Amino acid sequence: VLALSGVRRAYGEHVVLDGVDLEVRAHEVVALIGASGSGKSTLLRTANLLEPIDDGVIRLAGRDISDPRVDADAVRARIGAVFQHYNLFPHLSVLDNVTLASRLVHRTPKAEAERRGQELLASIGLADFARAYPDRLSGGQQQRVAIVRAIATGPELLLLDEVTSALDPELVGEVLALVRSLADGGTTILMATHEMAFARDVADRVVFLDGGRIVEQGPSRQFFAAPREERTRAFLARVL
Ligand code: ATP
Ligand code: MG
Repeated sequence: VLALSGVRRAYGEHVVLDGVDLEVRAHEVVALIGASGSGKSTLLRTANLLEPIDDGVIRLAGRDISDPRVDADAVRARIGAVFQHYNLFPHLSVLDNVTLASRLVHRTPKAEAERRGQELLASIGLADFARAYPDRLSGGQQQRVAIVRAIATGPELLLLDEVTSALDPELVGEVLALVRSLADGGTTILMATHEMAFARDVADRVVFLDGGRIVEQGPSRQFFAAPREERTRAFLARVL
């Protein structure tokens, strides 16, 4: 679905992504882990064309999307993304948040978009909040709405950047449970996370970034059980 090759991104002298090669296949769940500043968020933003790249190629379903002539909005319409801080539109109802992209970007008729939106809200137990505004919801509920909003249009790929790190600890579980159910349902996911147990249990593959380079990657259980690289072991020793 997604393939990065030789992706490089620098801010002046500071190289943030240093020749990243990464592939995410259909229905695969890939977890990006690494220390703060290792480039996880930058990598996710490049995949969504929110961040220009200085070198390399990014392909979505085989097509080069890093070509500057590509319509970035059209690409983003095919990728769902949720970031650390739940970014629901505060002036729109929960249901309107969920249906906005379907209606505006994909031109889905209102009734159909709302039927699908209600279904998604019901699937996360929030059907009764459809007409409420986001500030009525807890942080965990808001983040779950942000996630179903991101999948409402049936994207080919879902990008998740530390979707639980701004939450109170007791709200983390409900958000991770939703991500797990999407993963089980076959959604293709590339996620940055510092929840190592979650990465081990839910991701098919774990990718460890250090200083903008992929130092090691592998099937998640094997990765955590027997990391090969010294830098990976040092990182895991700090966070586990
Ligand atoms: P965290 O775990 O803290 O979220 P991260 O792995 O997501 O970290 P990034 O946010 O991708 O890391 O940042 C990678 C590096 O790029 C950091 O050193 C950061 O300071 C730098 N960086 C990010 N955005 C900018 C910017 N707009 N200008 C300059 N440097 C930046
Ligand atoms: Mg980050």
